Amino acid sequence: MIKKFKLAILAGDGIGPEVMEEGIKILEVIKKKFMLKLDIKEYLVGGVAIDKFGTALPKSTIDGCLNADAVLFGSVGGDKWKHLPVEQQPERAALLPLRKILNLFVNIRSSKLYSSLSHLSPLKSKIVNNGFDILCVRELIGGIYYGIPKGQKMDNYKRRYAVDTSIYYEEEITRIANFAFEIATFRRKKVTSVDKANVLETSILWREVVNKVAKKYPEISLNHLYVDNASMQIIKNPMDFDVILCPNLFGDILSDECGMITGSIGMLPSASLNKSKFGLYEPAGGSAPDISGKNIANPIALILSISMLFKYSFEQLNIADAIESSVINVLKDGYRTFDILTTNTNEKLLSTSSMGSKISDYLKHEE
Ligand code: NAD
Repeated sequence: MIKKFKLAILAGDGIGPEVMEEGIKILEVIKKKFMLKLDIKEYLVGGVAIDKFGTALPKSTIDGCLNADAVLFGSVGGDKWKHLPVEQQPERAALLPLRKILNLFVNIRSSKLYSSLSHLSPLKSKIVNNGFDILCVRELIGGIYYGIPKGQKMDNYKRRYAVDTSIYYEEEITRIANFAFEIATFRRKKVTSVDKANVLETSILWREVVNKVAKKYPEISLNHLYVDNASMQIIKNPMDFDVILCPNLFGDILSDECGMITGSIGMLPSASLNKSKFGLYEPAGGSAPDISGKNIANPIALILSISMLFKYSFEQLNIADAIESSVINVLKDGYRTFDILTTNTNEKLLSTSSMGSKISDYLKHEE
């Protein structure tokens, strides 16, 4: 029987459209190879949407996402829109509201060090020789990014000040903790919860609630780390980590740290999910204005985001695995975009479009 899925594609700005083109090549192969009916519709988001509709998140784009089974997102932002008030700029005006509208309360970022690329890690080889596989589970629509009051004000003495409010409801912590423990049951069964419970009230509640949720998962081992210590331990011993559970702000920072120690942001996929299987999938990096338009961006982060999409939203594990295997095999055979190229003579430099075509070819022949 032919399976049917609806996919909304939001390529956005900068390298977004370039890497998305390669993602579409992969989707075309999947459709044929696995007999899927993929109904793909493209929508504008970010700076290109501001140029056409005067807003970074037009209603047609919101409706398109709400009507889809999953969203594949490129990236938004660029110098062209930097003169706008911050609340109208692409990232703030498109991504943040989209996460809220779609109720994407969890962000997961996989930081896996592939053995063929372990030399790219900035960490010493004795630390990363055996690779590592960390999954950062970040609460995405609560905490200090969304708390009210927020903004800049003037006090009675005409001194300017700014305020952000950090707030967490017990239920918000419970649902993200449940997610982290569930996902850990399919992995190495270890959760590290990150907070700042020695200073912050929200962190004290965070720790209490995580401990409560942990009682439902006796097979999962749980430890707590203060965020400052976590940032040190990740660098000292990344192999010690399996699932890292974080509030919004700490997750934003630590997931970048976990990404960086793999060697390139161009390799890192991410997924933002809600309670049902719906999700928004995107590369961890941004619109990379410094390299956009040059056909040199690494499309692997976007292609691995498609693998996550087939795993978490469409629940087609064989397709997810086939995509990931094709990427691993292309890397094993020495093909590289410029960001992951070293002086090793076995390596062959590919452009964005050639890397996309190479992975598509490998995928066609993947068992
Ligand atoms: P960035 O991730 O765009 O770039 C940081 C560095 O990583 C750059 O040197 C870039 O060339 C490199 N890089 C990123 N993706 C790459 C890829 N696929 N292949 C090779 N190299 C890659 O972050 P930035 O420079 O801080 O931000 C640039 C713009 O992107 C800003 O407007 C920012 O607001 C926006 N941004 C958007 C998102 C998003 O859409 N989700 C996320 C972060 C930043």
